[in-house]
Amino acid sequence: MTVATEHDQAVSTLRQAERLLLTTHENPDGDALGSLLAMHLMLAGLGKDSVMYMSPDEFPLPWEYRNWTLDGLVGAPPDDVEDRTIVFLDCGNIDRMPVDFLQREGLHIVNIDHHHDNTRFGSVNLVDPGASCTAEIVWRLGRELGAELTTPIAEALYTGLVTDTGRFMYESTGVEAHRMAGELIQAGVQPHKVYRRLFEDLPFSRLELLQRALATVQRHDHGAVTVAHLVKSDYAETGALETDSEGVIDHLRAVQGTAVAVLVRELLGEDREGLRKVSLRATDGRVDVSSIARAYGGGGHTQAAGFTTEAPYPQLVEELRRRVEEQLRP
Ligand code: 5GP
Ligand code: MN
Repeated sequence: MTVATEHDQAVSTLRQAERLLLTTHENPDGDALGSLLAMHLMLAGLGKDSVMYMSPDEFPLPWEYRNWTLDGLVGAPPDDVEDRTIVFLDCGNIDRMPVDFLQREGLHIVNIDHHHDNTRFGSVNLVDPGASCTAEIVWRLGRELGAELTTPIAEALYTGLVTDTGRFMYESTGVEAHRMAGELIQAGVQPHKVYRRLFEDLPFSRLELLQRALATVQRHDHGAVTVAHLVKSDYAETGALETDSEGVIDHLRAVQGTAVAVLVRELLGEDREGLRKVSLRATDGRVDVSSIARAYGGGGHTQAAGFTTEAPYPQLVEELRRRVEEQLRP
């Protein structure tokens, strides 16, 4: 099925739906939250009964989103969940929403996403890997549905756009992304304000965490694999939150000679003892980090992917080096 056909299917499903429950992936980022909120506000503006679901475990949200008021958010399934159209946004794999009530058989799911490795777990799948962000797909859907582009909707969409395109820098940033930015600004977005909220006015603990991460950087294979490592005590001693590690990896990918940047961080919480979250970024066109992430049960984009593993740190680094080497010299 072409993306255009999928798009039409999603539009007609959303048009017909009267009661909806919207959700996204765990550890939501800017695109996840922006797409979720924008879609919710659009549907509510069209007179529909829409609720957003996120697990209470996601709170507090990362610092960037601390002031977001998510009216219409529920932390438990509503009684009529089985009668609702479930809309997943920016979620490539249903296992990224590890919540029983959403994994049940028989739900009517609309899956809206831009990950090329999306497992198409919905009854309707609108998966457009050509879109710079899920927010871009939501923006297009809004137009088709005749939703009014209010300033709060535009701000939510702009957040998804700015964060998922790396501030309009990643390869996925195309003409549409810039056209969308123009339209969102016309609708009332003030880029410098969004920028300030997202990337500045940060707690000092974030800088301290970055400092520690950078102090661990190791370059392997003549710099092709550049790795940083955060352990539990780094959080405890700086007072930083897990989400404060966001952005660390960008410093690694920016260095000359890096083909793949890797951030390994120990997960906090007793129930996650021994688990590490690994973020991967590729800057070399020969490497598809999503395939490496998939080998560990994760996924993502060609150039940005991630997974969670129990593999011990030194072994993990050795394995990643080997996998990158295989792709660089097949
Ligand atoms: P990050 O490294 O910023 O956590 O994630 C980068 C990209 O990889 C995002 O597009 C995200 O959706 C994807 N990703 C990160 N962790 C996972 C994971 O555990 N599973 C899957 N399927 N994708 C992931
Ligand atoms: Mn996204």
